[in-house]
Amino acid sequence: NQDAVASPSPSVSVFGNERRWADTTSYNTKKKLQAWFQLANGDWELGKIISTSGNESVITSDGKVLTVKSDSLVPANPDILDGVEDLMQLSYLNEPSVLYDLQYRYNQDMIYTKAGPVLVAINPFKKVPLYGNDFIEAYRNKATENPHVYAIADTAIREMIRDEVNQSIIISGESGAGKTETAKIAMQYLAALGGGSGIEYEILKTNPILEAFGNAKTLRNDNSSRFGKLIEINFSETGKISGARIQTLVQCMEGERSYHIFYQLCAGAPSKLRDKLHLKSVNDYKYLRQSDCCSIDGVDDAVNFHIVKEALDIVHVSMEDQESVFAMLSAVLWLGNVSFTVIDSENHVEPVADECLVTVAELIGCKVEELKLPLSTRKMRVGNDTIIQKLTLSQAMDTRDALAKSIYACLFEWLVEQINKSLAVGKRRTGRSISILDIYGFESFERNSFEQFCINYANERLQQHFNRHLFKLEQEEYIQDGIDWTKVDFEDNQDCLNLFEKKPLGLLSLLDEESTFPNGTDLTFANKLKQHLQSNSCFRGDRGKAFTVSHYAGEVTYDTTAFLEKNRDLLHMDSIQLLSSCSCHLPQIFASNMLAQSEKSVVGPLHKAGGADSQKLSVATKFKGQLFQLMKRLESTTPHFIRCIKPNNNQSPRSYNQGLVLQQLRCCGVLEVVRISRSGFPTRMTHQKFARRYGFLLLENTNSQDPLSVSVAILHQFGILPEMYQVGYTKLFFRTGQIGMLEDTRNRTL
Ligand code: ADP
Ligand code: MG
Repeated sequence: NQDAVASPSPSVSVFGNERRWADTTSYNTKKKLQAWFQLANGDWELGKIISTSGNESVITSDGKVLTVKSDSLVPANPDILDGVEDLMQLSYLNEPSVLYDLQYRYNQDMIYTKAGPVLVAINPFKKVPLYGNDFIEAYRNKATENPHVYAIADTAIREMIRDEVNQSIIISGESGAGKTETAKIAMQYLAALGGGSGIEYEILKTNPILEAFGNAKTLRNDNSSRFGKLIEINFSETGKISGARIQTLVQCMEGERSYHIFYQLCAGAPSKLRDKLHLKSVNDYKYLRQSDCCSIDGVDDAVNFHIVKEALDIVHVSMEDQESVFAMLSAVLWLGNVSFTVIDSENHVEPVADECLVTVAELIGCKVEELKLPLSTRKMRVGNDTIIQKLTLSQAMDTRDALAKSIYACLFEWLVEQINKSLAVGKRRTGRSISILDIYGFESFERNSFEQFCINYANERLQQHFNRHLFKLEQEEYIQDGIDWTKVDFEDNQDCLNLFEKKPLGLLSLLDEESTFPNGTDLTFANKLKQHLQSNSCFRGDRGKAFTVSHYAGEVTYDTTAFLEKNRDLLHMDSIQLLSSCSCHLPQIFASNMLAQSEKSVVGPLHKAGGADSQKLSVATKFKGQLFQLMKRLESTTPHFIRCIKPNNNQSPRSYNQGLVLQQLRCCGVLEVVRISRSGFPTRMTHQKFARRYGFLLLENTNSQDPLSVSVAILHQFGILPEMYQVGYTKLFFRTGQIGMLEDTRNRTL
């Protein structure tokens, strides 16, 4: 009996918010029924109810007899529903049943499962026999119905062609859950079906490039993306790939190793290039040495350097541009080695004019003196005067590191731009594109900081897109079309978005405002939030420097420690001015990215005291800007959602941690989606279209009949159950999966 939990409260509760998760099905603890009960560690186990008396039940499980509280039991599904491929098919929809279904399938390498309209993908952390040409052919020919990324990509292509509407595949999940791999698998399918012009090959080659420059090893993932990515793949009218465009969303996350490309360059550059760029080996650079993690098991950096170079050739980045890229990388590395020397009694410093400083100046194309200036002084504006402030050692080191980071960030953006130029073939918006979004999912840790704040805000926006698409639009349409549809109670997250975005009293505005105050601290920021945001039901001020936001996926408490510092871009105007005047590639990038944007800035001037007259964007505002651009591109698309799940924290195969999986399922609202989808009619078609599309399948001649009569005749002939559809004034509405059967028949007949 020792394993059973006495109290019904689940110990895996992540958000302490069970309100939306309790199964609404009333359930009698009848004899011999199977039910889930919870172990002390929070895992669920299956038991059989022997007897119930009062509020206690006796159950057997695995040969043991246990007594548990009756109301802690959760109904289990009959065996016949073991491993169903769509969670919609479960009779009892509750957390343990969903966990079990996913685990049952995962144990048999069936890593994909549908949750209504969403595809759940569990990272196998090993090679699974599910990919390649045979599988692609099977999905193309509809020879298999098993849930798969290929099936999602296939649906996207079909709907793009059928409806002439742009599509998107939105992949989310936490770090290491398999998003980037999933995005590549989807791209492979699109390339296989839409290939022919050769450009698909170039598009696939952007992956190794972006991974080299944008990924790093972390504790959670050897190949962790440090950025969110949207790749829009354009198709011609004949359904062939004609071009692509990439957009990135910077995510500031700490890595264990630096970006792969630095190690690749040091390990793989040929000697001529080494000499020209003054390259040394990994161990000679502070930025690379400090991580204690110079190599990754099973990864050959030198080989990868050549793969990346080849990929750069293929996407037509010229030799000259490639060399500039490598020169900038070398500059960043050398910059990290720049040291300082104290010059006065107040601990002010100057950079040492040694090999390091000279090499950086040479590589970025400026005079040594010009580089020295921003590394040792800062222009300050006091009233109408500009004064020059000397830097202390820690200020100088921060400035140096901020400069290195900015050079790298600009380089990355510039590279993406070059790739975009090269892939820009189908420029027109044809209603024929598929965008794949690979982005961090909602995160909730024990301690949540600025990074979670940004990423959860982004996910709140994506969730609204999802809600709008799946529920809101449909609901409005049902009502408009006069069908009888009891409103599904779907959660609108507009309040939460208002909490973030409202001006001047929203989280982002208040953060920016506080970041500009010289005396602003994390505590004054937290207090301001409490002072101004209490009226929003999604906000709660906590003790000290913390506050809590009710996100769609649950409550998250944020610790404001270092919020202001992380939000203030540490790059000072002096550095910006230096970079915009040097003779390498950077000026164009700076001109277009930093300064131009700041003129359009919607927030007040940041760092008034910090530099010249130009405004500079805060990190959060820049993030919001990129997010809005991204959302704008997604807005007009039909979305398809893939939620990646990490089954364990050790990157190991065959290990399924229930608590970890459950936490992720809650974060992406999987149960919610299934519940709502079961009660709605997500597929719809006008009477005309339906009659035109399937009318020829009718056994009786229907020439003279109106579209509605033809439609009804089709529904009857195929025996579609009345509860599976609704007839509206202009359209027919179907539950998920119904149209698929008709489509199959149609395809077989054509
Ligand atoms: P994310 O982008 O979500 O952080 P990745 O896509 O980089 O995660 O996946 C992390 C690792 O998990 C990969 O490097 C790979 O080893 C493994 N992995 C992910 N998806 C699959 C898959 N479908 N098959 C085999 N291994 C996978
Ligand atoms: Mg990734």
